[in-house]
Amino acid sequence: MNSYSKLSKNELQNEIEKLEKRYNAFKEQKLKLDMTRGKPCSEQLDMCMEILDIPSRELRKAADGTDTFNYGVLDGLPEAKELFAEMLDVDKSEVIIGGNSSLNLMYDAVARAMSLGILGSTPWSKLDRVKFLCPSPGYDRHFAICELLGIEMITIDMRQDGPDMDTVEKLVSEDDSIKGMWCVPKYSNPDGITYSDRVVDRIAALRPKAKDFRVFWDNAYCVHHLSDKPDELKNILTACKASGNDNMVYVFSSTSKISFPGAGIAAMAASVENLNGIRKSMTIQTIGHDKINQLRHVRYFKNLDGINLHMKKHASILKPKFDIVNEILEKELGGKEIASWNKPNGGYFISLNTLNNCAKEVEKLSLEAGVVLTKAGATYPYGKDPKDRNIRIAPTLPPVEELKKAIEIFCISIRLVSAKKFLE
Ligand code: PLP
Repeated sequence: MNSYSKLSKNELQNEIEKLEKRYNAFKEQKLKLDMTRGKPCSEQLDMCMEILDIPSRELRKAADGTDTFNYGVLDGLPEAKELFAEMLDVDKSEVIIGGNSSLNLMYDAVARAMSLGILGSTPWSKLDRVKFLCPSPGYDRHFAICELLGIEMITIDMRQDGPDMDTVEKLVSEDDSIKGMWCVPKYSNPDGITYSDRVVDRIAALRPKAKDFRVFWDNAYCVHHLSDKPDELKNILTACKASGNDNMVYVFSSTSKISFPGAGIAAMAASVENLNGIRKSMTIQTIGHDKINQLRHVRYFKNLDGINLHMKKHASILKPKFDIVNEILEKELGGKEIASWNKPNGGYFISLNTLNNCAKEVEKLSLEAGVVLTKAGATYPYGKDPKDRNIRIAPTLPPVEELKKAIEIFCISIRLVSAKKFLE
């Protein structure tokens, strides 16, 4: 079909009539379809059940003799560090293991900088203003941390190869109240893009005015490929070292979407100097995290090959779901010039842009027909999408039949809202 912009008033009215029939037919079904959060589906979780069958006697002694059932080992078992070092392509001396959530590690890192500063700097809470750069659309929970702690957020446009680096370079070099930048560099949430080598190099070579500026590199989706030709992400720690910025980055990751969300293990990678700084307060926070779970993950996955093999099984479930979403989007919206979306090679999301000023209306219409979408605007700081156009689709959780219906309703809603817009 032609672009909506080329349709006559009559053609648009006909289109609206047809769409309303389809829409009302769905509405009568009183569906309840949830497309909000990027959670694994239950088949993915089933794939990891055996991790819980490992006999307790095999989980008791770590390689160095540590009794995992007792207190101790502040920052993780050596074998857990090795597993993450391989996954993140860093040295094991550059890894600390946390609890069950990388978001928790990120929150702690920001809260610690607020209350104690970083490597001897003034605690951020004592400064008049603290700002973070927020490439957007981005992960709502990153923005929520800033909002809670009173950190001002500056929206940075996301391009197809990563954040708009001209703006990032200019801002960080001029303003010493800019203390951080959020990045989801691989299969980003929600765009599903991977930063190009050039963007990684430019981030690593930043010359921030604030000496305690940190890049919060949330590599949540580093092994979450959907394709046999995975995206490659340049190693940020190595690139930072090459630029003499060894301390500028904190890397985060977890096994939440490898084993179990809420019962996986999380890790942080950074320079040895950064990690030593963190250990000083970590030792007051905890005597140590769950070593039994650390050993369970090491015994089960063994190494990166083990993780990759497991993630291939996840992909065999997720790829068809992403394909279905793409097919329906293409069939319903292709050629109409009313929406654009990404076709990611991995991760958990598809990000779609409607025409400007339509996303909230699409969300409302979809909801009235029984489809709950992630709140329009949630992918931007303060929940405010300046163009009101971005919607995050999370295809992983619903069963295929539900997913098909939900995306169809979503597309009909986009078409209705857009056609009406052209009639205005
Ligand atoms: N980071 C990103 C980009 C995410 O999308 C998510 C979950 O959706 C998380 C972190 C949460 O990670 P964790 O379960 O390790 O706290």
